Amino acid sequence: MNEWIPRTELGKLVYEGKIKHIDEILDRGIRIKEPEIVDKLIPNLEVQLLNIGQAKGKFGGGRRKPFRVTQRKTEDGNKPKFSVMAVVGNRNGYIGLGFGASSETMPAREKAIREAKLNLIKIRRGCGSWQCGCGTPHSIPFKIRGRSGSVRVEFIPAPKGVGLAVHDECKILFELAGVKDVWGRSFGQTRTRINLLYATFNALKQLKETKVPESFKKFAGVVEGEV
Ligand SMILES: [Zn+2]
Repeated sequence: MNEWIPRTELGKLVYEGKIKHIDEILDRGIRIKEPEIVDKLIPNLEVQLLNIGQAKGKFGGGRRKPFRVTQRKTEDGNKPKFSVMAVVGNRNGYIGLGFGASSETMPAREKAIREAKLNLIKIRRGCGSWQCGCGTPHSIPFKIRGRSGSVRVEFIPAPKGVGLAVHDECKILFELAGVKDVWGRSFGQTRTRINLLYATFNALKQLKETKVPESFKKFAGVVEGEV
């Protein structure tokens, strides 16, 4: 790997160790423009590609895979375009989602991972399930909703042991966020997963943006991200 030479003021502060915690950036709503900032502040970040594509033909029929292939018309005929969605996370309250497209697979993948790091958000967890009431952060503290295009999603706190009762691709987002139990519902066109994943990510943003009274925080055992 090439050595990082920071290009932004924020990058320099992180590089020089003047900013030591990712929350110093996220809590102030500062936009991250260099993925290396995230690499440095969250060293155990995992990357996963989401299955937004589908294998075609007799044999691959319907099997999901990470590269979504579309055809672009050019003067020389049809050229394939590859789209990728990547999620990054530390399984403890931080995730990011990114999209990348290119005429080749590797640059599409790199763009998606880069964007995922730049879109990092903090995930508040807790037990908002009235049936459970254990006060530990295995689920989400309250119901959240999100939308993207025609897709709407809703996620509800679930008691311990339920697991992630959501679409397979959305599961990865919750896993990397550190949420273990949740119920989900989706409405609209979810067959192509891109909008479904964006809607899920938008819903997850609400966890941090919603104001929560201190008394409830204690009751539901609410925690934020940990590095
Ligand atoms: Zn619980």
